[in-house]
Amino acid sequence: QRIGVVAESTPGETRVAATPATVRQLLDLGYQVVVDSQAGAASGFTDEAYTEAGAGIGDAWAAEVILKVNAPSDDETARLRAGTTLVGLLAPAQRPELVQALAARGVTALALDAVPRISRAQSMDVLSSMANIAGYRAVIEAAHVFGRFFTGQVTAAGKVPPAKVLVAGVGVAGLAAIGAASSMGAIVRATDPRPEVADQVRSLGGEYLPVDVAQEAGTDGYAKATSADYDRAAAALYHEQAQDVDIIVTTALIPGRPAPRLVTAEDVAAMRPGSVIVDMAAAQGGNVEGTVPGRAVVTGNGVTIIGYTDLAGRLATQASQLFGTNLVNLVKLLTPGKDGRLVVDFEDVVQRAVTVVRAGEVTWPPPPVAVS
Ligand code: NAD
Repeated sequence: QRIGVVAESTPGETRVAATPATVRQLLDLGYQVVVDSQAGAASGFTDEAYTEAGAGIGDAWAAEVILKVNAPSDDETARLRAGTTLVGLLAPAQRPELVQALAARGVTALALDAVPRISRAQSMDVLSSMANIAGYRAVIEAAHVFGRFFTGQVTAAGKVPPAKVLVAGVGVAGLAAIGAASSMGAIVRATDPRPEVADQVRSLGGEYLPVDVAQEAGTDGYAKATSADYDRAAAALYHEQAQDVDIIVTTALIPGRPAPRLVTAEDVAAMRPGSVIVDMAAAQGGNVEGTVPGRAVVTGNGVTIIGYTDLAGRLATQASQLFGTNLVNLVKLLTPGKDGRLVVDFEDVVQRAVTVVRAGEVTWPPPPVAVS
């Protein structure tokens, strides 16, 4: 079969679903690969680089298997032929109408954002690989706007204190932010309702700030909505920290709900001029009062609130490489014969979970998977 790597049509998207390096791996699995002209341009990969890797440049939409980053537009969906397999970020829970439209085209659709968060599927987990990049980039964006060093220095021109960074929410993105900020020399603190993250915070050089209110743990490794008592205690912690830290990176999400509001306008007003907040939950409603999704805004007291929703894409080459590798790992799982033929096995929980449409039949949602 042919694998098509299509150019992304979503405005502002810089990523591509395969790089020259991952094209080689797809060829090793027995596929032919065809790439849309300029598909990798915004990620720094030329058409020549793809042809050198062994791909053809041509109409990627004509292939039997189509690899994509974002969900297809209406026009793109209309181009899909029956029997095609489409793989990409399809957000089936948020886009039931897209799932129906894909079924009507008679295709098989695999949603990368439905990869179960179990150890065995980690190599295919694009949400984690993109969150890791986004967390790192959030710190870079903050450092870019912040008018001082992160690390403390004693120089002939005077003594510079280290910057203080607070990370709210210690999932994949939060951990990456903690690692990046502490490796740049900042004093890093982090908080999360899940106390089990404390050791991870410390191992990356941060200090864990607990909110001392018992919090019911989720059964699946994710946070549940916090209690009113917890939120009151957390609000005091944020207000106190806002007066002391220079930078706040928020990453708090609760699956299936809007992002929790953590930092209020009063907290922002309590920060020193020149401070920076990066609200990584901007696209899900925001953790910070005053965030504008997709933009950086400066408040009346001189605090910059960054609400960029394309943080992973701002490291386009790296993001495409990790995204492409996640995809190779999925295609490998779906190609047991290494013979260039994609086979979906519903006995396998990972393959079952990602398949939202099979040959024109809606198969979303899948049965629940136990998290390990
Ligand atoms: P996420 O993006 O859903 O949420 C980010 C963080 O926000 C979480 O740590 C959550 O506890 C926190 N949060 C929620 N409400 C909050 C509040 N009111 N205040 C502060 N923080 C709040 O999380 P994620 O990055 O998807 O990771 C969730 C867990 O799943 C982590 O423990 C992660 O290591 C784990 N995980 C496991 C796998 C795997 O394959 N085994 C893959 C990915 C993630």
